[in-house]
This record gives sequence, C-alpha cells and structure tokens, in this order.
Amino acid sequence: MLSSPSTLDPMPRIDAQRLWASLMRLAEIGATAKGGVCRLALTELDRQARDRVLAWAREAGCTVRVDAIGNLFARREGTDPSLPTVATGSHIDTQPTGGKFDGNYGVLAGLEVLRTLADHGIRTRAPLELCVWTNEEGSRFVPVMMGSGVYAGAFTLQHALDAADREGTTVRQALQAIGYAGSEPAAVADGAPRFGAYVEAHIEQGPVLEDTATVLGVVTGALGQRWYDVVVTGLEAHAGPTPMDLRRDALQSAMPLMQAVDRIARDEAPHARGTVGYVQVHPNSRNTIPGRVTFTVDFRHTDDTGLDRMDAALRAAVAEVQAAGRVQVAVTPVVYFPPAPFDPALVGHVRQAAQALGLSHRDIVSGAGHDAVYVARTAPTAMIFVPCKDGISHNEVEDARPEHLAAGCDALLQVLLAAAGRA
Ligand SMILES: [Zn+2]
Repeated sequence: MLSSPSTLDPMPRIDAQRLWASLMRLAEIGATAKGGVCRLALTELDRQARDRVLAWAREAGCTVRVDAIGNLFARREGTDPSLPTVATGSHIDTQPTGGKFDGNYGVLAGLEVLRTLADHGIRTRAPLELCVWTNEEGSRFVPVMMGSGVYAGAFTLQHALDAADREGTTVRQALQAIGYAGSEPAAVADGAPRFGAYVEAHIEQGPVLEDTATVLGVVTGALGQRWYDVVVTGLEAHAGPTPMDLRRDALQSAMPLMQAVDRIARDEAPHARGTVGYVQVHPNSRNTIPGRVTFTVDFRHTDDTGLDRMDAALRAAVAEVQAAGRVQVAVTPVVYFPPAPFDPALVGHVRQAAQALGLSHRDIVSGAGHDAVYVARTAPTAMIFVPCKDGISHNEVEDARPEHLAAGCDALLQVLLAAAGRA
C-alpha cells in the first residue's frame, strides 16, 4: 500500500546522535588506554563486536546470514523480490593500534540507514543489505581485504581459510572458535548473490578533505598499485682501508634509486604516489661499507598506463645505477592491484546527494584499498568519504567530527534510496 505523496517525507534524515552513540558503544569492545581500538580479525573481541552489530540489525528488522568466510549480511526486504540487492557496509576489525572509525563508520552508517528507514516506515523496491566483511585489515591474517576478496574471486575461499596467524591458528579454526563459520557460499562464482549496487562510506584516511574544508568526498575510484622488492648488491669492506673510488657501496647506489621513486611519482602528479617504506642495510655496521640494501617500492596511480610509465622510469633508474658497474640491482614485482574506477552513474548519485543536502563536496580518488575495491569487480560500486582529523588513521588518535559522520550517513541514505528505489 502506497502512502499519498503529500504524506511522504521527501528527504528523511538519519539520527546523528544515535549514529555517534553506536560508534562509541562499538568502540568499547577492544578499547585501548589511548582512546583507540584493538580488535583484530576473528578474535573473541571481534566476536563480541559482530554479535553487537547483528543484534542491532535484528532490532532494526533485518534477517542475517553468514557466509563461509564469515562475512555477515543483514537484510531488509524490498517490495520487489525480482530486483538485485542494494548493499552497503565495511569492516569492524581494526589494526592493533587502530581507531574507532576506520571501517566501523561504514558499517554503522549502513546500520543507521536501516534504522532510519525502519523509523520512517520507508520501504524500498530492491532489498537492502548491510555487509560486514571479514578481516579487511590483514594484521592478523593475510591477505588483507580477505572477506571481500573471496567474495569477488580475487583469491579462493580455500586459500583464505588456510591462512594462519603467527601462532599457527588458521582462519578456518578462528572462524569456528568464534562461531562465525557460516554455510552460505562466499564467492560470487560459487553462488553468492551479486549486488545491484554497493556503496561504502568511510573516513578518508588522508588529508585532502580537511585541507580543503570539504565535507564529502565523492570517490571516483581507487588507485592501482604496483609493489616491488629491490635488492642492491655490492661488497662489504672495511670502512677505513678501502679508498672511496674502489668501493662497491650498496647504500650509496641505492639512495639515488630511492630518491627516484619519489621523483617518478611527482612527475605524474597529482594522481600518483611513490613510497619507499622499508629499508634494510646489510650488515648495518658503523665501520663496514654496506654490501647489500633491500628496500620496497609502492607505486600507485589512477590508471594503468601511468603505472606502466612509473615502472619504465624505475627500470631506467636501475639501468643507470647498474651502468656504473659497482653494484647489481634486482627488481622483483610482488603485488599488483589494477586501478578500480567506480560506477559513473552511482558516483553521480553520490554527487547529487551531496548537492541535494547542501554539502560541500569534491571528487577524490581513494589511495588506500577498501572492501569496495574488490566488490567493484562484481557490481556497480561507489564510496563516500568524510574527513578525519589531520588525515590520520591506523592510529589510536584517529578522530572524526560527529557532524561530518552524520553528513556522510545522510548522503549514504539518499544514494541507497536512489539505487534501491523508494516504494
Ligand atoms: Zn577501512
């Protein structure tokens, strides 16, 4: 039965206080002394957090299913069973010194949307689902973004279940121990439902929105990534008796390469990143000329041709260093994530929601991985970013303003309503 248009609230709004209170209550589970959260994937604390979120979802009228990798789906039926589900969500596992908002915001913003719809008695044509993806952070078990990765077929369920933590506990054992080893198919290829649309809200985890005093980030996609291990091999020798021009100093040869990583990314500004985050000098001794330097390279770019140019530039820098004849350089690619452009129509809905709500907004590219990046391989996907204080996350001081979190949640509500259709 349809309400008459005059009784329809044209733009329902979420309950900002309830959203904030839920964020704070969930953050009690695994709370750290410094105000952060330590809730590693598939621990007893993760179980408590899952239980709490699902209890809230059931109170909001949802039914729940758990798949074989422990992903949770809280479902609110639509009026047209023939339509594919419109989904939202994120993750509730954290880094060991994590914050209250990374992931948790996306889950609880989705929950707040479901609660708001229940409060207002609003039905959607398509069903809605709130997803809680298993082990997004990857601190206890690798690979990262495990639940969404299995779902999208980035790797197999078997591979994920066999992954073990440092104590030798496997994901399979941990899921059984906390009672979240579900029976539903986990991968789309194995019959897991494919969504009609997926929208994930998240704190930005970077400084751009705050720096530009913008409330909403309209995420157009995620950067592609290429990671490398680089080993520069020279020869250890005594720092005293070995004259400068007879040295094969691996560190002095590695330094221009590390600086090249930074320069290569700047040459591709503003859409590239280049980072050397790990360096190991062997033997790392005050009076020995370094014989070997190992370092990592993390290149990111909005498009693949850009990543190709960065790859070529790195190899040219390596060739130059090798041409001097003092060292050998080995470059090993270790990880490749293709750039993930989001669905232009759904991204357009996010932009329209920001405009309709009168919120300042700008297009932004996600530099980090998110569950949405994997889900985008299976369904039209978009993300909504809100600012976080000083752009900091993966840190106990991670913080965000209640009014920004509420604004992102209001936008999420509008986008999900647009995607699912208001009955
Ligand atoms: Zn996250």
